[in-house]
Order: sequence, then C-alpha cells, then structure tokens
Amino acid sequence: MTDPFKITEPTVISFSGGRTSAYLLWRVLQSNDGMPEEAIAVFANTGKEEEATLEFVRDCEKFWGVEIHWLEYQDDDPKFRRVSFETASREGEPFEMLIKKRKYLPNPVTRFCTAILKIRTIDRYLKSLGWDHDENMDWLGIRADEQRRAVKMARERVPLYVAGVTAQDVGDFWKAQSFDLGLPNMNGKTMHGNCDLCFLKGGKQVLSLIQEKPERGIWWARMETVIQSSGMTTGDGARFRSDRPSYAQMMKFSQDQQSLFTDETIPCYCGD
Ligand code: SF4
Repeated sequence: MTDPFKITEPTVISFSGGRTSAYLLWRVLQSNDGMPEEAIAVFANTGKEEEATLEFVRDCEKFWGVEIHWLEYQDDDPKFRRVSFETASREGEPFEMLIKKRKYLPNPVTRFCTAILKIRTIDRYLKSLGWDHDENMDWLGIRADEQRRAVKMARERVPLYVAGVTAQDVGDFWKAQSFDLGLPNMNGKTMHGNCDLCFLKGGKQVLSLIQEKPERGIWWARMETVIQSSGMTTGDGARFRSDRPSYAQMMKFSQDQQSLFTDETIPCYCGD
C-alpha cells in the first residue's frame, strides 16, 4: 500500500491545534524525513482558542523542529496577518472584527467564522506566497472513526482516515510523548478544543464549560448583545443559536440546568 502520508505535490497541513491534526503533522514528518519543501503547516487562530491550545501549537514547533505558520484574519488588506505564540490574539479580536464587519452572527447554518477566519485566511496567505492554492491541497486531521466527516472529503486529503487511525491510536500516541495538549482527552474528544464556546458544541457541553470557568461566557454574551443592541440585524443573525437560550441566559442557568439540552456537537472543518 502506498504511504498515505508521503507528500508528492503541494500540500497544506491544516493544523487545528488539536491532538489529531498534530498527530497528522507528526506522521507527515516521519514519512517524509521532515517537512518537505512543497508542504506547509498552518494554524489559523480565531482569538477564542484556549491558552493550552496555543501552547500546544508552540510546543509542536519546538519539540519537532517544524515551522507552523500562525495566521489571523484581519479586516484590512491583505486580510490576514502572521502572528506567533507571543503575538496571537487571546480576546477574540479577529472573530469580533469579522462579526462587526458582517453585522450579524454566525450560526450552524451560516458558519462564516470557519469559512473566513480559517479557510479564506489560509487561502489568502498561501496565495500571497505564490501558491496556486485550492482546497484539494489541504490535508485535514480526520480519523477512521470520523466517517461522517471523512465521506465528504477526497481520500487524498484525509490520510489518517485512509491509514485507519482511530481516536484510541491518537490517544496512545500522546500518552507516550514528552509533551501533550493541556486539555482533557474525553474518549478521544477534546471538549475544550477550537473556539472555547463554539456554537456547534452541544448545549450541555457549553453549559459545563461555562460552569468550569464562568468568564468563558462573557465574550459570547457580549457579541450577542453588541449585535442585538446595535439593531444591526434581527432574527437568526442576532444569536449564535436561535434554537437554544442565549449565552447570557446560559451563564445564568449554568449552575443547575444541564438537563435543558439534548443536542449533540456538530462536526465541522475546525476539527480536532
Ligand atoms: S470553532 Fe466554531 S465558532 Fe470557532 S470558527 Fe469554528 S465553527 Fe466558528
């Protein structure tokens, strides 16, 4: 069988800051004796990542001696900026900039945050480097147990899936390493990963994350208030989720109402 991690053409390793995509990067480094010239690893920071995620990205660079290109969306041309662990936004600045520009909030149907903060930002950056980039060049950290996400992708883009790598394999790998993501691994899932209170996370999960650290809710509640009080928009665009309580209400409920929710987390590009 051909090694699915062997790079033979321009390839983008889209690193979400999670254990799975870091493992993908590791396998690429193993199969290619380091990072091949025609490949690049990118991490697009939304400003709403946990500090532990930023530390993990930095540690992968440091321990594996690989360059990861840290990027953020910005309003002004060229619509992206290169950042580092030290200069990365931590208060949701890129995300807030985008919301204020759009004048409405993303939601499960209109996920413009993933599209702009991550996909377009990476695309713009690569084009600025002279890449004739398209999404077929992007490799994603999607495992063999993530059938629902994998079936939407060309097989060449999901080498972990092709190689049969499961959540168990990824967990075992990280247990044996000298560093790890400082966020709990819960049956192969990182509840705290990606934007801290992403509206695609299940309601119970969001409540539990607010309970654990109430200040997590502040930015999300503020964004809902900013859009609603400015009269910029009404209806679905005025809430991250119109099918469940607002973030401000969830902050209030978080003490004792976890049974309010039965919805599940929705998978998306942002990934693990
Ligand atoms: S993690 Fe959620 S909130 Fe953040 S960019 Fe992705 S879809 Fe949007």
